[in-house]
Amino acid sequence: MTVAILGSRTKVLLQPGGWFLNNAGWVVGDERALLVDTQATEDRSRRLLDAVRTDTGARPLTAVLTHAHGDHANGARLVVEQGGTVLATPQTATTVHAGPHTYPMAFDCSSWGDITPPRITDTVGGPVELDLGGVRVDLLPIDGTAHTDGDLVALVREDGVLFAGDLVFAGVTPLAVSGSISGWLTALDRIADIDHAHLVPGHGPVLPAHSREVDDLRAYLEWLLDTASRPDYDHATATRDASARWAHWTEGERHAANLLVAEADLKGVPVSLIAAVGAMLTVTGGRIKLDL
Ligand SMILES: [Zn+2]
Repeated sequence: MTVAILGSRTKVLLQPGGWFLNNAGWVVGDERALLVDTQATEDRSRRLLDAVRTDTGARPLTAVLTHAHGDHANGARLVVEQGGTVLATPQTATTVHAGPHTYPMAFDCSSWGDITPPRITDTVGGPVELDLGGVRVDLLPIDGTAHTDGDLVALVREDGVLFAGDLVFAGVTPLAVSGSISGWLTALDRIADIDHAHLVPGHGPVLPAHSREVDDLRAYLEWLLDTASRPDYDHATATRDASARWAHWTEGERHAANLLVAEADLKGVPVSLIAAVGAMLTVTGGRIKLDL
């Protein structure tokens, strides 16, 4: 378990960044502690919570979910079982409660454990400032649909840390199948307006503010929309072009799905998840084996 310490109050559990291997973190106040996101499997979430408890002692624990994807949210019930509370945007709460979502048509995984979700009753419909005692955390829902329809970022002002959730991927191909490319670009504008020194992406290493990685992400999202709007656009050719241009990103099969999202955005319709998953599995040659 790799834990990065940012400032005096914030710690980040860094994972390698691929499918379902997300970052999570926690903030230690004098009176309360805040966990930002959980992990994909029961075992990984239990280990995360053990580390948080070792660090925060008997302080009451609140968890906030940056969005509903299982890597970030699958441990939410464990937080409740251990006496904590879980916060999320209303959209995220609804999606999480309808799960767990393991997408067996896309993934071959036998290590989820018990990831039954909780009913999240404390929702964040607008900006909220949490006072943990000696440190405050701003929970900032993102308007509209970006990575998902219920994204939220968390800012620890005292430490200059911005937890961006999956609005930022670093070194890993972004995944847009639950979102909107144009909405995601708007969300990046919002993030750029938030004063911070360290940005914790949903996947990948901690970044400085105004990083090259975020510029690269923006260029990619703009390229998706620009490419899919060209008269001579061809999905297979564009998928190969993206894989060549962003060869430094892992999970390159996501380009095939992201281009379908861009096509749907341009038509003003939702993307077909079945088509998006099918496009990725064409690249991978079958279901994606997860060793979590
Ligand atoms: Zn996600």
